[in-house]
Amino acid sequence: MKSFIDEQGILGIIHNTKFSPVSFREIINKAFSLKGLDIREAAMLLSCTRDEYLSELFSAAGKIKELIYGRRLVFFAPLYISNFCTNNCLYCGFRNKNKTLKRKLIDTDEIKQDVEFLISEGHKRLLVVAGQDNNINADYLADIIKTIYSINKSKGEIRRVNINVAPLEYSGFKKIKKAGIGTYQIFQETYHGGTYKFMHPSGPKSDFDARLYAIDVAQAAGIDDVGIGVLFGLYDYRFETLALLKHCSYLDDKFGVGPHTISVPRIEPASGSSISNNPPYKLSDIDFKKVIAVLRLAVPYAGLILSTREKPALRNELFNLGISQISAGSRTNPGGYSSDTEGQFSLGDYRTLKEVVCDVTDRGFIASFCTACYRKGRTGGDFMELAKPGNIQEFCLSNALLTFKEYILDYKAMPITDVEGFIRKQVATIKDCRIREATVSRLKKIGKGERDIYF
Ligand code: SAM
Ligand code: SF4
Repeated sequence: MKSFIDEQGILGIIHNTKFSPVSFREIINKAFSLKGLDIREAAMLLSCTRDEYLSELFSAAGKIKELIYGRRLVFFAPLYISNFCTNNCLYCGFRNKNKTLKRKLIDTDEIKQDVEFLISEGHKRLLVVAGQDNNINADYLADIIKTIYSINKSKGEIRRVNINVAPLEYSGFKKIKKAGIGTYQIFQETYHGGTYKFMHPSGPKSDFDARLYAIDVAQAAGIDDVGIGVLFGLYDYRFETLALLKHCSYLDDKFGVGPHTISVPRIEPASGSSISNNPPYKLSDIDFKKVIAVLRLAVPYAGLILSTREKPALRNELFNLGISQISAGSRTNPGGYSSDTEGQFSLGDYRTLKEVVCDVTDRGFIASFCTACYRKGRTGGDFMELAKPGNIQEFCLSNALLTFKEYILDYKAMPITDVEGFIRKQVATIKDCRIREATVSRLKKIGKGERDIYF
């Protein structure tokens, strides 16, 4: 079968794209129709280098993010459950050839301890992460999902469990779907075949095609919220970004549903990995911003995820360029919230959830702990129907405000009196008067102690 990634075709487009201010501006204008961009258009945007054009691109990305999602940032935390791995990805601290790493598979009690800690911090969404190993099979993952959903603390519970693990078989995906998975996430790492082969010399992950088509298997098994991504630093960022866009259009054409999320990790130093200290195509901050802005314009409906790999100052800039989901208060080692072992890679943002929420609120963003779409069945095609024309905004904004108020009241991140004016101002921007009035009434209910109400 011929892959949907036509390497020579993509490299040809990069090579033949010459920056033209006229085309650049036409493409920026077109992006405001919220219909996305094709890869030639994205290549033109990626080819800009001068500050004046970069400013135009960044400003358009910020505006388009607001048109689709408003000023909300959805929060989540990763939950690492195992660092055993049969693969040897050269950039990763968990690779099996790293003999200095202390290995750990956390047991149910430790999972409960970590989850209770995350609930006590205010988290409502988790991303379960693990190395690839026989222990991390579908039955085990289904049990973990059920365990996590069953943990109830006085102040809250986890309402959405997403997963980032190696591909499962069709029957395995069915099992975790039945157990209540939110999004299934898997990063291709690099779409460049030769680089992929070099970076993944052994283990099941060395099969490029199996990884490339893992999402197809998940979709066929009924998991219709899927997340894709690239590990930036392995190969040319322009190639990776255009290939990501190819992956999006391939999924959209085949399943009528593009990716629910796109992740943009950059390689961070990891123990036992010299490549991670000196990535072959290290992505500079300015090119990283460009990638995020172009993705926002090209796939406006997709959630763009930023992790704590990045430092606070840069994270704050990237929120204005189209990032819509972020992790905070993260640990990347199994049992990391209740013990102190070595993580998968170094973090850039060590602040607590509370510190990040206060900071983004000061910057005019709404910290959202919303899990409504998934619980209302607005997944896959149903979600896309709302997200593509920008109609998800009203739900997002209202649900963000409801969960933000809940968080402030329950976790006392700041006095409620300090944010009441901010919430009122945001409510006033809800265009649909029925949703606006219903939001006001639900906010009152939350003030009186009701919890977990959403649109
Ligand atoms: N083991 C599964 C896999 O590889 O698909 C899933 C979990 S893996 C821990 C999650 C992601 O971490 C990988 O897909 C990779 O992109 C990222 N990662 C690995 N090493 C990294 C590093 N040194 N810096 C930043 N991200 C890294
Ligand atoms: Fe294992 Fe995933 Fe790390 Fe590769 S990236 S070594 S598969 S944990």
